[in-house]
Amino acid sequence: MTLPADDMVLVLKALHFAADKHRRQRRKDAAASPYINHPIALAEVLATIGGVRDAVTLSAAILHDTIEDTETTGQELEAVFGAEIRAIVEEVTDDTSQPPAVRKLRQIELARTSSPRARLVKLADKICNVRDLVEAPPAGWSLERRRRYVEWARAVIAEVCGCNSALELHFNALCERAMTHLVGSEPESER
Ligand code: NDP
Ligand code: ZN
Repeated sequence: MTLPADDMVLVLKALHFAADKHRRQRRKDAAASPYINHPIALAEVLATIGGVRDAVTLSAAILHDTIEDTETTGQELEAVFGAEIRAIVEEVTDDTSQPPAVRKLRQIELARTSSPRARLVKLADKICNVRDLVEAPPAGWSLERRRRYVEWARAVIAEVCGCNSALELHFNALCERAMTHLVGSEPESER
């Protein structure tokens, strides 16, 4: 199944906008991958594993880190992409003024009451991040830190269950594999 022309235009516009906003950013992996690879990966996971063809969800996935990680505002997103996409992106945006521990708990709480489209974006984000933790982990992260991240991601995703069974099955299998891969510990000096 392909996207109708208007839907394709929306997704391409989101790609252009996100690529521009993230143009100076890199992921945390040792190779410092271009940041835009991550939002593109979310949309690809949604489409290929989740069978998602809803252009609003795919575009929100592509834009999901623009408010949190760039100078993009909600008003700007609304002006370019409309109120619906702005609302989804805001739902998956952490309040960066809060301390990390508060943000972690807040994500679990917010996942519980999030909209169906925000749940899909959240699930794809955690799939991509857990996959990266195994294949291209943040430089300097100990196995224990990576395990803690997987456990927290599971707690967040437990709150969105029922939104897409193919994505949920994939996430659960990925976490199992990640925990098997991330066994052991490093010497104290490397933690
Ligand atoms: P962070 O929140 O610091 O980093 C995880 C986030 O980084 C992911 O959610 C993802 O967010 C992004 N990311 C970028 N590149 C990668 C990649 N290659 N693989 C996976 N994720 C990537 O991680 P923690 O949850 O561990 O830490 C929270 C806070 O606690 C930090 O701010 C830190 O100051 C502090 N801390 C925690 C320690 C611990 O052991 N947990 C140890 C020391 C400090 P996105 O997709 O949104 O971009
Ligand atoms: Zn993300």
